[in-house]
Amino acid sequence: MQLEFFGAAGEVTGSCHIVRAAGRQVLLDCGMIQGGADAPARNRLPFPFDAASIDAVVLSHAHIDHCGRLPLLVKRGFRGPIYTNAPCADLVPILLRDSAGLALREAERAARDSNGDRAANGERAVPLFDLEDVDAVVKQLVAIPYDTARELFPGITVRVRDAGHILGSSSVELWVAEGPSGGAPPGATRRKLVFSGDLGQYDTPILQDPFRFESADLVLMESTYGNRRHRERQDTERELGAILAQAARDGGNVIVPAFAIGRSQEFLYLLAQHYGEWHLARWKVFLDSPMAISASRVYWKHPDRFDDEASRLRATFRGMPPLPNLVLSETPDDSRAINDLRGGAIIIAGSGMANGGRVLHHLKHNLARPECHVIIVGFQAPGTLGRQLVDRRPEVRIHGQRVPVAAQVHTLGGLSAHGDQDDLLRWYDSFAPRPPVYLVHGEIEAAEALAVKLRERGATATVSQPGLRVDLSDLPALARDPSPT
Ligand SMILES: [Zn+2]
Repeated sequence: MQLEFFGAAGEVTGSCHIVRAAGRQVLLDCGMIQGGADAPARNRLPFPFDAASIDAVVLSHAHIDHCGRLPLLVKRGFRGPIYTNAPCADLVPILLRDSAGLALREAERAARDSNGDRAANGERAVPLFDLEDVDAVVKQLVAIPYDTARELFPGITVRVRDAGHILGSSSVELWVAEGPSGGAPPGATRRKLVFSGDLGQYDTPILQDPFRFESADLVLMESTYGNRRHRERQDTERELGAILAQAARDGGNVIVPAFAIGRSQEFLYLLAQHYGEWHLARWKVFLDSPMAISASRVYWKHPDRFDDEASRLRATFRGMPPLPNLVLSETPDDSRAINDLRGGAIIIAGSGMANGGRVLHHLKHNLARPECHVIIVGFQAPGTLGRQLVDRRPEVRIHGQRVPVAAQVHTLGGLSAHGDQDDLLRWYDSFAPRPPVYLVHGEIEAAEALAVKLRERGATATVSQPGLRVDLSDLPALARDPSPT
């Protein structure tokens, strides 16, 4: 029995890990690589396994860096079930359909750039996948309830727990058992893995806190903010209030590049919570993203996953947070109409890292204006426009045009969907005894910094690398529940 790292090893995006046990191969996530000029080419590379030989996928959550290459996996021959929780299964089609649209436009652009000479741009002129591949993925999704063990195959059992990161985010418990001949007879070697998925902050708006595990033989853990501390949530909310007050005095617009799933809903929720206190009636709030609008509807459909406060507030919800000045911009015309507004608009639009999508138009119209504000609320991968704004570049390029950055850019780390170093250590501290940890989903510096902290706690911590293999039967048996039943 073996674990092999493939994606999100030594970087944040492209989450994908392979578990081989009991004669089966199960993937944990199959995400897209995002950010960096070479990302499109890397996403097209062959998988280091035969897609048709994969027996099942367990998907932690619907973010594209975790589910984005599922259509490609299916296109290349994968026919097995994709297990995930029910809200995630509702969100995946929304994200992947959008992603197929992006893939198509990217391919059309590549074809155009080659002046009709398709060969010049090679396979880039062919979309990475299309809507038919997405439909196939949707048919292969199998929703499993939270907190209930499910046997996938003899010798492989899974249970998903709330990771508190976005709606429908899971940490995954995976039990594997293998006898000398490969099956799972009595007396087989048994090991338990816990894959953190992406972990949210404690006390995130709307969502429950990340589930706290007790024991495992091996932990696979994200490390996005392994080297950083977010500000206290209350301080962050106060800062957001102050930014909006300043923006109102300055008389410009506020642009919020936000992931359609997660940040958009939480940002709206915060505005609803502080509507009176922050005098928000003077603003018009635009949710300028068909995908975020659809995702919001899924959010409000799953109140069973809400924390107590959100459940209380929901008593007044009607499909959306109670923001009387919220405008849903569904069509491109709705979106274009916002361009005429010189002030008084809070515009929430994707993509979350500003490397595509409608937010580019809003940034193009507002970045050069000192009275405007940009609020960065999520992780920005290197190479993205969002990262350039965080790094305070004086000038950026949008749609081939140079745009000077005169607007005020604010980074609100406290609104991140990811826990910070303290949150990650708090999550790990619930394991006793200390299982070995493999760090994934973090840039090297972040993962190394977290590894140092984990080692101070007596843990064996390894920063994973693509291609690294761990023989699970070599691990000491630490789990107090080596078998799920
Ligand atoms: Zn995520």
